[in-house]
Amino acid sequence: MFETIYIEKELLGHKTAQNLHQVFPKAELKSIDSYTDIFGAYRKPYLQKRNRLNLFLATKKGKLIKEAPDAYGLKGEAHYYFIHAFNCIYECEYCYLQGYFDSPDIVLFVNHEDILKEMEKTLDSCANKNVWFHAGEFSDSLAMSHISGEIEAYHDFFKSHPKAKLELRTKSANTRSLLKLEPLHNRITSFSLAPEWQTKDIEHKTASLKQRLSAMKKLIQAGHKVAVHFDPVVLHKDYLSHYKLLIEQMSEYFPIDQIEYLSLGVVRYTKEVFKATQEHYPESPIFAGELITSFDGKVRYPKPLRMSVLRNIESILIKSGLQKEKIYLCME
Ligand code: SF4
Repeated sequence: MFETIYIEKELLGHKTAQNLHQVFPKAELKSIDSYTDIFGAYRKPYLQKRNRLNLFLATKKGKLIKEAPDAYGLKGEAHYYFIHAFNCIYECEYCYLQGYFDSPDIVLFVNHEDILKEMEKTLDSCANKNVWFHAGEFSDSLAMSHISGEIEAYHDFFKSHPKAKLELRTKSANTRSLLKLEPLHNRITSFSLAPEWQTKDIEHKTASLKQRLSAMKKLIQAGHKVAVHFDPVVLHKDYLSHYKLLIEQMSEYFPIDQIEYLSLGVVRYTKEVFKATQEHYPESPIFAGELITSFDGKVRYPKPLRMSVLRNIESILIKSGLQKEKIYLCME
């Protein structure tokens, strides 16, 4: 999968470096001073992620935790995201990462203890609130977690901080690290789900819908908390029947009221990402719907259309047994 694995000199003895060596024996290993000397130092075309992908093992300097934008999570609670990786092994045609970094190469940060210290400080400053920490803003939270090996450290932290909440967001079915751990009421694994055509046609290399549903079922059966993101919803002429079918498929794997929360959001882009998507995927079915530049400069469906789509899907969810208060609209 990786052509070259670059490891910062200080991390050569780190256990993740050894794991990488074992899991990717064919990749060339190079020791470097800092990932910033190479990653993004020159522009690497995004689609080289298909056949010329590199991996960096690094220490993240600077801000490790950032406040999440409005309407990111459940209302009335504080939301932050933390940065433990850059970029993703999957290739979703709508991914905003294609316009974000100057390189598609993966960077795994290993200084989780620094992230946990920042979390502790954030919790101290938000004494009487529920505080959420979301992983996966710049990567998939679980896709490589069996190799990067950080889940256990976060588990221990959240076990001893029951008021803090952790969300691990994924399009993988990689639950093996989680299933080794006891369930926690404040650790939620959220799966982005979409109708089968979307998963197959525009979420390249991600786990299939059935694999994701099966992973959710295993977690639920073992007592773990799960959530769902119907985000992004990509318009299709038969979108309502596709979402009806998706909800029926979910119900075949687990009772729908077992979901902790479900977010609904339509596909949206910054101008830069929209331009990158047009360049990378000119024939993508994403462009079938009417897309306009809206109030915040983002490109998305016109408001009446997207609200009607979201409300229609919400209505099917409620009819299928999901409580209304568990549903929220993302970034609206
Ligand atoms: S799983 Fe998420 S981060 Fe990875 S390519 Fe898809 S949208 Fe991007």
